[in-house]
Amino acid sequence: MKRKIILAENSGYCFGVKRAVDETIKIKSESSENIYTLGPLIHNNNVVNDLKKQGVIAINNENFSDLNKGDVVVIRSHGVKESTINYLNDNGFIVKDNTCPYVTNIHEKVKKYYSLGYKILIIGNKDHPEVIGINGWCNDEAIIINLDNLDVELPKKVCVVSQTTEKKSTWNKVLAKVSDECKEFIAFNTICLATDTRQKSARDIAKKADMVLVIGGKSSSNTTKLYEICKEECSNVYHIENKDDLTEDIINFNCETIGITAGASTPDYIIKEVISILERK
Ligand code: SF4
Repeated sequence: MKRKIILAENSGYCFGVKRAVDETIKIKSESSENIYTLGPLIHNNNVVNDLKKQGVIAINNENFSDLNKGDVVVIRSHGVKESTINYLNDNGFIVKDNTCPYVTNIHEKVKKYYSLGYKILIIGNKDHPEVIGINGWCNDEAIIINLDNLDVELPKKVCVVSQTTEKKSTWNKVLAKVSDECKEFIAFNTICLATDTRQKSARDIAKKADMVLVIGGKSSSNTTKLYEICKEECSNVYHIENKDDLTEDIINFNCETIGITAGASTPDYIIKEVISILERK
């Protein structure tokens, strides 16, 4: 019997990632020189390697020593610390800021409430570039919290924001703690709509499918979250980066329904390549 393949209603490139990729390609088309991104433009090796061939070079986030005055430096959708933007502007680089507007909104809130005397609480992964960037808008003084350190002591007055790709369930748990322990707080649910809709769609297909493939970079935070959510609903879930990760076991998996979802950094062509291989069976 032919297996049914269902693609999550909301999956693949989000607005912020698409914008960053399109803008970067446009910037490169206007320059004969290499241009530089602070870290890989998006968490997808295929796209980053394609861009490299076109002269879009990813450098280490803080390693400016290889750059020369006048070089074009692209800020990716994750955003960076305020001090990084200032350094680049003050040292003669041409800055093209592709920070996702939803992340810029977090930077503005963090800066404002830090200046008003609130301790900033970021719900997210302390090692993720988006969180490192957000923390840089309050002098790197935020408390970064997630399910691993829920027992951290909180001050009396806090302003809560979230990494844009955080799970709603984690947000709810942290907010319950804040409400219990803090005298004065303001909370901005900055989980972005693209994340929210992708997570809901992933859960929907995982409930219906016998096997789910989650397509996206291994270092992609939002893809990992989709994988975790699908695992809660289905026992056969695989996180793959692209068609090359399709093993014979996956391709030949004997079932009625295969669900497919993809992280916000996964371009359409990678999703289509995976589906077309599965459809041949
Ligand atoms: S996931 Fe949301 S915040 Fe992050 S780049 Fe995409 S649209 Fe912007």
